[in-house]
Amino acid sequence: MNKGPLITLAHGNGGRFMRELIEDVFARHFGTQQLDPGLDAAPIALDPEMVAVVSTDGFIVEPLQFPGGDIGALAVHGTCNDLAVSGAVPRFLTLGAMIEEGLPLATLETIVASIAATARENDVAIVAGDTKVVPRGHGGGLYLTTTGVGERMPGCSLGLGTIRAGDEVLVSGPIGDHAVTVLLEREEFDLSGGLASDCASLLPFCQPLANMAGVRFMRDATRGGLATVAHEILRGTGLGIELRESDIPVRDEVQGVCEILGYDPWYLACEGRVVAVVDPAIAAEVVALWRTLPGGEQAARIGSVNGSAHGVVLRTELGGERMLEELEDDPLPRIC
Ligand code: MG
Repeated sequence: MNKGPLITLAHGNGGRFMRELIEDVFARHFGTQQLDPGLDAAPIALDPEMVAVVSTDGFIVEPLQFPGGDIGALAVHGTCNDLAVSGAVPRFLTLGAMIEEGLPLATLETIVASIAATARENDVAIVAGDTKVVPRGHGGGLYLTTTGVGERMPGCSLGLGTIRAGDEVLVSGPIGDHAVTVLLEREEFDLSGGLASDCASLLPFCQPLANMAGVRFMRDATRGGLATVAHEILRGTGLGIELRESDIPVRDEVQGVCEILGYDPWYLACEGRVVAVVDPAIAAEVVALWRTLPGGEQAARIGSVNGSAHGVVLRTELGGERMLEELEDDPLPRIC
């Protein structure tokens, strides 16, 4: 099959091919208002009344494209979501692209277009970037790194330190869609049944909560999934977490794949789900709000912070108790 022109080492040599790649692919899609290839460093203007926050993340997902998204959408949403769960609004983004020799130019262009579209969706400007080309066999086609700068209202008190016993744990939608979608796509299993990654912006879920009284903590349940967020809460507070299996939304397709392949949905990565810890007095209000948002239809109250529980406990559908240990092995490498 003719894949068209391919990335060569000359696209990373600092000369004409690299300049053309940056101008014709990256800058063209991002728009010169955002990325000015003539600058070595981009000035950014931040609101002096706000607190600036910054976050960075690398993306190595395989395959590069999958139902519901691609590495480009993942890289933009991933960093913007880290800012969003911190109570911030993303403003600026930088992008590092490590491209493997032999990647079809058309694939790169599709992913760059996806990065640009996802940045527009998040209303974030890509102001700086870098490209490198690594020799064939030294990279997974394309690796991306994004750094995001956002603005947060002063006085935002979100944090593990504000969590207290009796607080409720909420999730904004079904868990594990992203991990199972990527796994099925990678292994070419014919099991998907229309499943797609949940890769999406969490800003609509997080912004209304950022300064709401009674909201203690938010985290996007990415690598390691819900159980890993619960362990973070446990470690950060010393308080146990009890999760109720019957209340945690898991799609039938995800459950089915977990049963066949022996995975636990509690540990599977999401890319568009937020876990929040809130005062029980506002739990119903937050879930009702989330359920009005696209992707939030199955938002649920799934557990509580429990002073007397030791560890992360899953109350099973049959009424038993199961300890969810901290993840050790990586059951699904290169998922994000
Ligand atoms: Mg995160």
